[in-house]
Amino acid sequence: MEAYIIPIILATIIIAALCYYFALLPARNGFRVLMYHHIKPNQNDGLCVSSQNFEKHLTYLTQSNYHIISGSDLYNHLKSKSKLPENSVLITFDDAYQNFVDHALPVLNNNKMPAMVFVPTAYIGGVNEWDHGQEPLMNADTLKSLPTNIELAIHCHKHINYGASMLNVVEDDITSAERTLESLYIKYIPFLAYPYGAFPRHEKTFGLMKSIMKSRKIKAAFRIGNKINPLKPKPKYLIKRLDIRGDENFLAFKRKVKYGKL
Ligand SMILES: [Zn+2]
Repeated sequence: MEAYIIPIILATIIIAALCYYFALLPARNGFRVLMYHHIKPNQNDGLCVSSQNFEKHLTYLTQSNYHIISGSDLYNHLKSKSKLPENSVLITFDDAYQNFVDHALPVLNNNKMPAMVFVPTAYIGGVNEWDHGQEPLMNADTLKSLPTNIELAIHCHKHINYGASMLNVVEDDITSAERTLESLYIKYIPFLAYPYGAFPRHEKTFGLMKSIMKSRKIKAAFRIGNKINPLKPKPKYLIKRLDIRGDENFLAFKRKVKYGKL
């Protein structure tokens, strides 16, 4: 036998054993929040998942005994009013793109699933100017006419980086977001997703920002972090989300949902 055959056989056995081990591990306990951006037919890249793959994701979640919860379910859990079911999943969409209505909503409705959309309120009815893009965002009428399984929350006002902004700028931005939604009579859950997932990393500065959010009406805020959230202690202003990307394969999606990013 050639000398190089033995290491190849050993490596194959080790890889197969690891795959088997991970497949048998139960899903990590806690609740997970999935973060999507664009859903479009036949397009998969960093920020866009194809509608075909999105459908596949939802089918997998249902068949694998994950419980899809709404933003209100999480709100009630954080307020200690109710317990979350095991293996809860909250599906979220950033930026309130029109392609959510065109391509994600029909799939969610077919599967009778709730979801939450984070709205950058300065750009309602406009385009993703913060990216110098031309992607249309839902207008106020569309946001107001979404079915009840879709709940809205704040993705700040001007899609600025809260991790690199002065606290008075952050406070003005949150105030503007709340006032915009209220002036347009758009109902929302008082949750906030940090644009770019960014927040002050300095503990004292973050503490001050948390006080600002509390003094406004914000009850919980979402970062990225790619981990499963614990049920206790309840994470309120640093809820982690799993970044669901179109350029990762289905196996990577399943692993991420089950354990978070390894
Ligand atoms: Zn965004």
